[in-house]
Amino acid sequence: MARVGQGWDLHRLAAGGPLRLGGVEVPFDQSLVGHSDGDVVLHAVADALLGAAAAGDLGVHFPSSNPALRGVDSAILLAKVAKLVGERGLRIGNVDVTILAERPKLAPFMAAIQNRLAELLEVEPARVSVKAKTAEGLGAIGRGEAIAALAVALVEVA
Ligand SMILES: [Zn+2]
Repeated sequence: MARVGQGWDLHRLAAGGPLRLGGVEVPFDQSLVGHSDGDVVLHAVADALLGAAAAGDLGVHFPSSNPALRGVDSAILLAKVAKLVGERGLRIGNVDVTILAERPKLAPFMAAIQNRLAELLEVEPARVSVKAKTAEGLGAIGRGEAIAALAVALVEVA
């Protein structure tokens, strides 16, 4: 049996880099603002996995009311989510992510983000897909005020 989950996240951009995206440091003069490091890619993937496991969302497991989580490396959170999914008897089938960002150009970083996600999820890179799109200059993302990420995850009952 297979189960699917979806995840979506958005964080505001503020002056001062570097940008943390998909667990990778991307040279840029802005970074994402959040209670944690604001890594929208890792948050969307974590929510997709939690959704597939019907196990709530990132905010339930790592509440922003917890001061210990302030500025936490989201890689730690995603690795914990992957572990939780495994403990529920589920095995990650594949993950597909779309990043919505007007700038910077992310094409040079796609492979690094794919490999980093695979490492955190403890799956082979072929099970992870990462894509990036702009918002054609429209809305908050198009104006470069925010970056968002969408993710779907398929898990299999091990
Ligand atoms: Zn987030």
